[in-house]
Amino acid sequence: MPDATLLPTLTTQKAWIGGHPLDNGDGRTFETLNPATNQALCDVQISGAAEIEAAVAAAEAGFAAWSDMGGTARGRVLKRAADLLRARNRELAVLETLDSGKPISESETVDVHSGADCLEYYGGLAATLGGEHVDLGAEWNHSFFYTRREPLGICAGIGAWNYPLQIACWKAAPALACGNAMIFKPAELTPLTALKLAEVFKEAGLPDGVFNVVQGFAETGQLLTRHERIAKVSLTGEVGTGKKVMADAAKTLKEVTLELGGKSPLIVFADADLDNAVSAALLANFFTQGEICSNGTRVFVEAPVKDAFLEKLVARTKAMRIGDPMDPATQVGALISAEHRDKVLAYVQAGVAAGARLVAGGGAPEEPALANGNYMAPAIFDGCNDEMSIVREEVFGPLLSLLTFTEEEEVVARANATPFGLAAGIFTRDLRRAHRVIARLQAGTCWINTYNLTPIEMPFGGYRQSGLGRENGRAAIEHYSQLKSVYVEMGDVDSPY
Ligand code: NAD
Repeated sequence: MPDATLLPTLTTQKAWIGGHPLDNGDGRTFETLNPATNQALCDVQISGAAEIEAAVAAAEAGFAAWSDMGGTARGRVLKRAADLLRARNRELAVLETLDSGKPISESETVDVHSGADCLEYYGGLAATLGGEHVDLGAEWNHSFFYTRREPLGICAGIGAWNYPLQIACWKAAPALACGNAMIFKPAELTPLTALKLAEVFKEAGLPDGVFNVVQGFAETGQLLTRHERIAKVSLTGEVGTGKKVMADAAKTLKEVTLELGGKSPLIVFADADLDNAVSAALLANFFTQGEICSNGTRVFVEAPVKDAFLEKLVARTKAMRIGDPMDPATQVGALISAEHRDKVLAYVQAGVAAGARLVAGGGAPEEPALANGNYMAPAIFDGCNDEMSIVREEVFGPLLSLLTFTEEEEVVARANATPFGLAAGIFTRDLRRAHRVIARLQAGTCWINTYNLTPIEMPFGGYRQSGLGRENGRAAIEHYSQLKSVYVEMGDVDSPY
């Protein structure tokens, strides 16, 4: 069981602007709750127009200093920050678990490390960023042009609540590597660890104002997306929020990166290694209580192996340990809020009402110790069809829908019959089929014979309404920089006038 003496005592949290906490002056706050108990962890001050103006002014000053530095020096700061995150892994993982409800076994092994990997990766890339030189030949007087890869200026990052620290790192690292400054707004349900990242950056030597954190709800986000002096916004959130953010950003023609929701297919062919496929289906649906955007929540299994697959899947799901997220043995923690759990449970009811067969979980656990938290046993539905709301809509909780198919052509068409396109996975031992099917799936991030692995080197993002742009890998550099072309004339100017 967790050691209560290790839990931090938290005072009122403020915005972090220009390298320091900044009092919001008007005293407006909200509470952040522990999803495992629904008790308040602390108050958080809401950032309004004055704080956003202060953040923009600080970011402008930070940008001037930071963008002037060479890539090697910038990279050194990011790599130092990566080391500091790793050194503070336990403390940050505890805070993330208290704020998000995810098991400590995950936050300690995945969340902080993945953020640190991201800082290290872009720290390494920072010194390599540049343009190209192209000679135009004798025909053009041996003139040439070169390109400069330049930062955009101030970038706004707006985060979701499922991977708070990781999302802050996934946005800040490429932005800062390119020489930008960032103003980051974490989700109102998980405001705490972004502030720790700000402290880590300061300790690593980041100039004040280069990374700022503001706090609040949609209104605070809008102050960023509508601000004239902010050049770019990168949002992780729901599709509906993405549309609003893009419309607001359009007023000042900001660059936009959108990492949105999904309803991704996981396709299991009859020749697959079934145990591996079941392992992947569990990871694709129940890690972080199913609160992962890329989850493969529509599991299509080829008819001959469906019964064997389901039997293994149900047995392993029922064995999962639901409990206090701070207990190292816990595998399924608490959902982010009581409201969100109600939403997921309502989907369970909708699935039953539509005639799907609930074969595992789907309700709150009965242990009295868990009564005050937002717990739910991972749900598996058999006998689903493509029209059911549990199969069409993003649930963002531990709810897996099992579907059966008989033909490759059929399953590709059904997998693609969605407005989303974030991710997809297939399991087969047939190499040719694996690549043939993946090429036909409308999804930005795909896996063959595994699911939900997101190494920092691999671009991540969605097709269709699941998003715009890419995070991670070299691809993200394109979205945090702009290219200047410079033509240099080596001869006389040939003019007809
Ligand atoms: P959300 O869309 O409700 O909120 C996301 C963020 O946007 C929050 O910080 C919120 O305060 C802010 N926001 C809300 N309305 C805004 C507005 N009009 N203008 C500016 N900012 C606004 O999403 P959520 O509930 O926090 O997160 C869950 C969603 O995020 C799911 O749909 C999930 O699939 C998606 N998600 C996507 C990815 C990805 O990488 N594709 C990763 C994690 C989560």
